[in-house]
Amino acid sequence: MTRFSFDLKARDGRARSGVISTPRGEIRTPAFMPVGTAATVKAMLPESVAATGADILLGNTYHLMLRPTAERIDRLGGLHKFMNWDRPILTDSGGFQVMSLAGLRKLTEEGVTFKSHIDGSKHSLTPERSMEIQRLLGSDIVMCFDECPALPADRKRIEASMQLSMRWAARSRDAFGDRPGHALFGIQQGGLDEDLRGQSAEALRGIGFDGYAVGGLAVGEGQEAMFSVLDFAPDQLPEDKPRYLMGVGKPDDIVGAVARGIDMMDCVLPSRSGRTGQVFTRRGVVNIKNARHADDPRPLDEDCTCPACTGYSRAYLHHVFRSHEMISGMLLTWHNLHYFQELMSGMRDAISEGTFDAWQEGFHAQRTKGDIIPI
Ligand SMILES: [Zn+2]
Repeated sequence: MTRFSFDLKARDGRARSGVISTPRGEIRTPAFMPVGTAATVKAMLPESVAATGADILLGNTYHLMLRPTAERIDRLGGLHKFMNWDRPILTDSGGFQVMSLAGLRKLTEEGVTFKSHIDGSKHSLTPERSMEIQRLLGSDIVMCFDECPALPADRKRIEASMQLSMRWAARSRDAFGDRPGHALFGIQQGGLDEDLRGQSAEALRGIGFDGYAVGGLAVGEGQEAMFSVLDFAPDQLPEDKPRYLMGVGKPDDIVGAVARGIDMMDCVLPSRSGRTGQVFTRRGVVNIKNARHADDPRPLDEDCTCPACTGYSRAYLHHVFRSHEMISGMLLTWHNLHYFQELMSGMRDAISEGTFDAWQEGFHAQRTKGDIIPI
């Protein structure tokens, strides 16, 4: 049986490329994980998600524990079988979404109690319960249960929260136990503070994990602040394990994070934007609802090989978006996920070839050109 392992294959500056091996398949890094919140990447069949080049999906513990519940998914054979996705799945711990979505929550040393945003029912999450839920789901990469204060927060609050998260990380490690082929990732906290981030990294190294996430970013601090943390945070974490930046991001956030030593990322952006008519292309963002596309027979991106670009005109995509046809969300989500995966494969190749600086220059130069001139 394949055990969970990470093989760092190439480095270019601080950027890295490698392969994570799991019993359910390999994950090429840097990797972008589409988000399958409620056991589906919205508007996409799982085989279509795979066709975009995704090696791994993210599932949300908070959503799945409330509906249809982890116990039901377990009875039905686990999340992979339930949603018809046989490649690796990473699940978050639920902590972040309790903070952002649930009503009326109470935080104690033990864990957090909260009311469901769906029906107001009362639930609790602790490190032990989060590990149990993620085991019932059959997750390949399990995240520690942590707490993350919204920024800005004062240093005392961030320090206390980080220390609580480190105690929860130790409890998560104990509760996870020994599960060959499955991985447990620790999550570094500490806000924007280098010293607190260093203390957090040290605590996590002491416990020992299969991978390490940089947590507590992409919570509204802005790209400049995020990059300033990524200038030191990844280097505080073990070099021989995957480093995961949670909840990022826009294409230029992703490129900047990879340049600073990040190996994995996830974000709802490509799928959510696909449903609101926002399209990511090599030449920047295109808003398909704009009237300029109404008579345009050209594809979104003539170099893109996705079904939206090879089969349909901007005029058609504009029409189905304006008409609220379901195919609109399907095609635009497909294109966006395809674009994000091409971005990752382009970076992986450039890092392997030692041409990542030139690749980055090309990436930024293309974007500054802006969208093609209207006809
Ligand atoms: Zn396309």
